[in-house]
Amino acid sequence: MAEVTEEQVRGALAGITAPGGDNDLVDLGLVSGVVIRNGNVGFTIEITPEQAEAFGPVCKLAEKAVAALPGVLSVTAVLTAERSQQQQQRQPPTKELIPDVRTIIAVASGKGGVGKSTVSINLALALLARGLKVGLLDADIYGPSIPKMLGIHGRPKSEDGNILEPKKNYGLKCMSIGFLVAEDTPMIWRGPMVMSAIEQLLRDVNWGELDILVVDLPPGTGDAQLTMAQRVPLTGAIIVSTPQDIALLDARKGLNMFRKVDVPVLGIVENMSYFNCPHCGERTNIFSHGGAKATAKEMGTDFLGEIPLDITIREASDVGKPITAADPENPHSKAFHAMADQVWEKVQVLEAEEEAQVPKIVVQ
Ligand code: ADP
Repeated sequence: MAEVTEEQVRGALAGITAPGGDNDLVDLGLVSGVVIRNGNVGFTIEITPEQAEAFGPVCKLAEKAVAALPGVLSVTAVLTAERSQQQQQRQPPTKELIPDVRTIIAVASGKGGVGKSTVSINLALALLARGLKVGLLDADIYGPSIPKMLGIHGRPKSEDGNILEPKKNYGLKCMSIGFLVAEDTPMIWRGPMVMSAIEQLLRDVNWGELDILVVDLPPGTGDAQLTMAQRVPLTGAIIVSTPQDIALLDARKGLNMFRKVDVPVLGIVENMSYFNCPHCGERTNIFSHGGAKATAKEMGTDFLGEIPLDITIREASDVGKPITAADPENPHSKAFHAMADQVWEKVQVLEAEEEAQVPKIVVQ
């Protein structure tokens, strides 16, 4: 099928009326940055920060209109309000997907196999150990490994056939796409399917009240991740990387991806940071060392700590007993606790900032 054209996209958007008048989005010159790639369409609707709320539903309508065009696989519309002052101007994320969840943070990585799930799980457990109500959503649709790492098996139950009950271990509520598909089923995900799967895992799960939901994102910085970073009401994101250049290059891409959609990056974690030989005690920097800290500094974000390459971490994950739960006094567990402290502190600061931006309605 022929690729959809910018003209067609603009044509569809010309049918959408902007709030507060009769003019459409195109007439008002609000549409910019139309990008079309293999049926995936992205565009920006330029607004002022004050218009953000009114334009929320319009943005959805605009996406729908473009999605209806032949040959369109996915549509991502971004509402921009003064990009240059990204974080200050960031609109509070819409909490409609899961209203009882106070905070959502994402754990991301530029590439697979760097320990994103390991960090997600241990960080979630360390947050739980602080007395918080914590959930863990395994959104890594390409390789959901959380069920195995948490020692959870079987399918989630549903009382009414619609809403799934999260599974629980170590007091951590968890939902994973891995619960719903057989382990050996190859999964091919097309753009729109990814987002609707994630939306369901957020919306159609009885998460209950949570202080924080940790989302283990699929690795990479492609369309799926970008859409997710935009649509899931994230308070912030954490990037996991190994120390060497190539991994950090991907981590940089991840960082830029979140910045592009105005999600604050809470910091970078260096996993597999070094190796202490259990026999001779000598330390080896297998994947080099310190790259994440340097990158964090260079990119103006925080360094959240380093976790060594250690067989106890891998073994604990393999048997479904993550180290932070199984051996809280282990130095690696303590590193995850320190990370959780930093993350929670940052989340609270961001929440306070967000609150200060929300206009209060005073009834007199
Ligand atoms: P990702 O989510 O980035 O794909 P995982 O967390 O699944 O990565 O980790 C990949 C593999 O590496 C797993 O077997 C995991 O147990 C192991 N692993 C992750 N971090 C460490 C570490 N610091 N030390 C030892 N093994 C690790």
